[in-house]
Formats: sequence, C-alpha cells, structure tokens
Amino acid sequence: MSDQNPVFIPGPTNIPDVLRKACDMPTLDHRSAVFDTILKPALAGVKKVLKTEEGEVVIFPSSGTGGWEAAISNTLSAGDKVLAAQQGMFSQKWIDMCERHGLDMQVFEVEWGEACPVVSYAEALLADTNHEIKAVLVTHNETATGVLSDVAAVRRAMDAAGHPALLYVDGVSSIGSMDFRMDEWGVDLAIAGSQKGFMLPAGLSIVGISQKAIATMEQADLPRYYFDLRDMIAQLAVGGYPYTPVVGMLNGLAKSTEMLLEEGLDNVFARHHRIAEGVRTAVRAWGLEICAVREEIYSDSVTAILAPEGFDATELVNHASNKYGVSFGGGLGKVAGKVFRIGHLGSLTDVMALSGIATAEMAMVDLGYPITLGSGVAAAQEYYRTTAG
Ligand SMILES: *Cc1c(COP(=O)(O)O)cnc(C)c1O
Repeated sequence: MSDQNPVFIPGPTNIPDVLRKACDMPTLDHRSAVFDTILKPALAGVKKVLKTEEGEVVIFPSSGTGGWEAAISNTLSAGDKVLAAQQGMFSQKWIDMCERHGLDMQVFEVEWGEACPVVSYAEALLADTNHEIKAVLVTHNETATGVLSDVAAVRRAMDAAGHPALLYVDGVSSIGSMDFRMDEWGVDLAIAGSQKGFMLPAGLSIVGISQKAIATMEQADLPRYYFDLRDMIAQLAVGGYPYTPVVGMLNGLAKSTEMLLEEGLDNVFARHHRIAEGVRTAVRAWGLEICAVREEIYSDSVTAILAPEGFDATELVNHASNKYGVSFGGGLGKVAGKVFRIGHLGSLTDVMALSGIATAEMAMVDLGYPITLGSGVAAAQEYYRTTAG
C-alpha cells in the first residue's frame, strides 16, 4: 500500500508533515520549566478551538473514548439518570459505557441516519419536574452515519424546561472541523480526540469542562483515578501532570491549534463544507443514497453512502484497499455491509478529495455497481471548479 495516498477514513486523518515533525521530539523532562512552554500554548489553543473562555481544558494520554469516561466518571454517581440517543455506533458505545458505570439510562432509539431527537429530549426534560436527570448526552457528529446533531437546540430545550442537568457533547469528529461553541451552547463537558479534526496521531483525549461541571466533581461518587479531572486541573494549573504526559503529542497539539487558528476557524469550517459538498455532489451523480436522512443534518466531516441492494459495502472497502491502496470507512454495527464512508475531515483539499472520489468510483465499477465511471468525478470537478478561490 502506498504511503503517499491520502486516507479517506473518518479518523485517524491525514497528518500534515509539519505536525509529524512537531510530534517528533527528543526526551524532555516533563517536570522541568520547559514543559510548560509546550503545555501552555496547547491548552490555550484548544480553548480557542472549543470557543471557551470560562471553561477549563484537560488533555489525557488516551484516545477519545477516555474522554467519555473522564466526563461521566467525574461528574456523576451510580444510579444517576442520563438522557441519551442511540443513533449510530459511537452514541451506542457511549451508552454502553454509561451502563457499565451503573448509570440509569433513558435512551431514545432513532433510525440510524437520524439526528439527536431534540423534541423527545425536550419532552423528557419537561416531564422530569423532580430533576432526576443529571446528564444529557449528545453525539454532535455521529461518525458511523455521517449525521450532525443540533447541540444549540438541545441547550435551548434544557433552558426552556429550566432543567439543571449537565450537557455532555461528544465532539470527537466535529471539533476542529465544524462549528462548535462550548460557552455559547452551554456545553458542560466537551470531548475531542487528537486524530480527527486536530490532524494528529491518536493518543490524546481532550476534555473541556464548564465551571458548573467542576462544581459537581466532589459529590460525584463514580470511582476514577487515571481520569480524575480534579488531579489534572490542579496539576495543569502549575504547569505539570499527575503522571507522565505525551510531550511530543502535546507539542503537536500546540502546532495543530496554531494552524487551525491561523487558517481561521470559519475558513476551516467553510473548507470542510465545500469539500463535503463536492463528495455529496458525486454521490448524487452516482445515483446513490446518503445514509443521513435529511440535508440539514449532513455531516461536513464524513459521508456514509448506502450501497445499492445486493451489494456488500464491506467488500467495496476491502477491494479499494487491496487494489488501489486507498482506505475508506466501512459500515459499523447495525449498518455493517450496508454503508461505506468517505471521511473528509482534517488536512484535506478539494484536489485530494477528487482522488478519493475517483478511487471509490473505480472500485465500485470493478465490483459491478450500477454507476458510470467518471460520473461522480465530473460532477465534483464541476462543483469544485466553480466554487474555488
Ligand atoms: C472517533 C470517535 C470517538 C472516539 O474514538 P477513539 O477511537 O477512542 O478515539 C468517539 N466518538 C466519535 C463520534 C468518534 O468519531
């Protein structure tokens, strides 16, 4: 497999050379003053990307899943009621984690391809006059289905019900790629990972914490040690870690946030939207359906495409990898074999996207999909050509 080809999986994403170099560091004493010159800009950069001035940011040496665990174990107690929606593999796994922590889950199961059911959330919150619900979970971008949910609308529903629960948002595949506003949306726990919008290798989970969430941490009785936010916040404040940090990755994160902010977050989001539109234009030209059921909930970081009846999407993904050395995302969980996913987040240009569209097209024609070679590429070319610059 060529290591020159970009990947089109929705994480880990392509790593720009400048970030690979930033991560490649000699050993550095993390208890020396030099470490703070890496840690400080990383934390400050993440705060800007999360759009929080009031919240704290903590960075764990773990993948994004560790961020979920930190968020719930620091703020909840066994038996606490949690509102969640099961709309794809990632939201499902987060629910599973909550169940294993002994939380009392109220789960709305929606069609995979649908967004977080804000109306159902609003009803549940209004009905909960005793305020037994302590946590409201939203998967901002469900990576398994390519569906974006409306976090601001969930916040409005919580405020309309006068509900004091904390708002937890999985932004692992949205933060740094699509608009995210921690303070404005009143997000109490925001979770991201290094290997998606931040364009780094996997290895860091990023957690934004509101002051309201911090105030609950002493009463919360779920056990935690490695992921104890209190230890982390105390140590970060004095420029250190409660254990050994991943110094090179933190240096990469400082650089990555600098890159995102230099490009300008609005420009980053516009770039993702335009690249995604090109991919969706190609899908329409192929005559295929997108898993997300409505245009308003289309994700700008990943598109899940339904394979036509009788075709196995997993075979397509394997074929593209084996024959052309290009990786796409397969279907996960309930949609395994039914969808394939084109990841279009992180370090990507329209030109790179065209190579992915062209490869998907070749692989589909190889396997007898009822599509015309060149149709998606031509449609995307036309879209990119007329929207460039
Ligand atoms: C990638 C991802 C995660 C975290 O996965 P890790 O493999 O632990 O980094 C969580 N939620 C969503 C929506 C994701 O896309």
